[in-house]
Amino acid sequence: MGRAILCLGAMLFLGVGLGMGLHKGASVSWTLGLLGTVAFVLVLMARWQVRLVAEPLGQLLREARPMAIGDLPGAWSALEQENLDLKERANREDQLLRSIMTRLEEGVLLFGPGGSLETYNPAAQRLLGLGAPLAPGMGAGLVFQDPESPVAIQRAYLGVPSEWRLTRAVRTLRVRAIPFAPLGAVAGVLLTLDDVTRQEALETTRQKFISNVSHELKTPATAIRIAAENLQEERLPESAQASAQSILRSVDRLALLLGDLSELSRIESGALRLEPVRLDLDAFLVSVESDYRTRHGASGVALEIRKEAPESMVLVADPLRLSQILENLVSNAVKFSPPGGTVTLRVEVSPRGQLWEVADLGPGIPEAEQGRIFERFYRAQGAKSKPGTGLGLAIVKHLCRLMGGEVTVDSRPGEGARFRVMLPLLQDQPPAGAPSR
Ligand code: ADP
Repeated sequence: MGRAILCLGAMLFLGVGLGMGLHKGASVSWTLGLLGTVAFVLVLMARWQVRLVAEPLGQLLREARPMAIGDLPGAWSALEQENLDLKERANREDQLLRSIMTRLEEGVLLFGPGGSLETYNPAAQRLLGLGAPLAPGMGAGLVFQDPESPVAIQRAYLGVPSEWRLTRAVRTLRVRAIPFAPLGAVAGVLLTLDDVTRQEALETTRQKFISNVSHELKTPATAIRIAAENLQEERLPESAQASAQSILRSVDRLALLLGDLSELSRIESGALRLEPVRLDLDAFLVSVESDYRTRHGASGVALEIRKEAPESMVLVADPLRLSQILENLVSNAVKFSPPGGTVTLRVEVSPRGQLWEVADLGPGIPEAEQGRIFERFYRAQGAKSKPGTGLGLAIVKHLCRLMGGEVTVDSRPGEGARFRVMLPLLQDQPPAGAPSR
């Protein structure tokens, strides 16, 4: 502030002096005085200018603020040092990334914003093997040489991650595409490749084993059942009758388990083929209700069906497999419902797909177990006293996937459980309009 007033005063003096000098003709002492004042003002202004530049520079370097021209060289060399350090750090990080990428067993590829290959590691080249060597700028079609991969990569550009299998000579690769969005918006697609040949072979062996064992055990189980039934018809002492009854119960449970096991391995191995047909929704719901009366009529639990779809809706679906999904969910809901309770089956058809929902007012499922109930043989702690194989929901999950949909659960302990099956509207299916109810 003081400096500004001084400067202003000097300029005023300069202005008046100049005016008078010009008016009267300048004497030597006037001229010297004027020159002195000009020099003084210039020095003041120069110091000010230096400060304007030096202060932010000092802040930038987080050092003591340079207060004068003399501090500039120090600030400049600090800036240079900072620059060198940054370059060195960037180089180190680049080298680190390169050496990680080189050592990875998994293949990694990055497609850039324009849809072409930007970078990849040696494992990607090794795993993809066939064809031309990889090079930056290649398109997905050229890199993978199969029709499915470019479509899946395109989906990832739209923000949808996906996973698929790729066969290369005798190898099976699992490819995962993840939208790459380091700064928020999707700027590319990151792909990882794993060699899953061994796991796939083991999985096939496991499925074959389960399928064979469950098939082979069905015949002796049937023979035991017939023998136990014959025994029951004999005039046997009461204890022997009770034993025959117990054999029958156990063999029925075994038959249920073998049935579920062979069904699951058929779905998992891909041996099960869907047979979609045009399905009248109203007629299908009537058949669901009638099946319910046959199977669960004696349970004392009522079934309420709600339809939210246009009148005379026709779906394209495999009726047998859709019934199997619903029967598994409904029989669980009945099993866990309180006596005299109600199970609700709701179907909603909208442009997003067909939503089937089965809800009950039973004990519900603890949150910690909700993620596990779709695993084979998993039975929640509270369900151990109820009959069951622990395979029903695994079958539902696989059937849903086979149909291109998914199943989810929503439950709060004490407030019942709600299972949702979301299935796509298949081709040949008229898009749904406004719901009728
Ligand atoms: P299970 O033959 O035991 O019913 P599932 O695979 O059908 O086998 O179900 C797995 C487990 O999920 C059940 O044992 C039970 O713990 C839980 N569960 C399934 N449905 C319900 C439900 N509606 N209410 C409460 N728990 C359920």
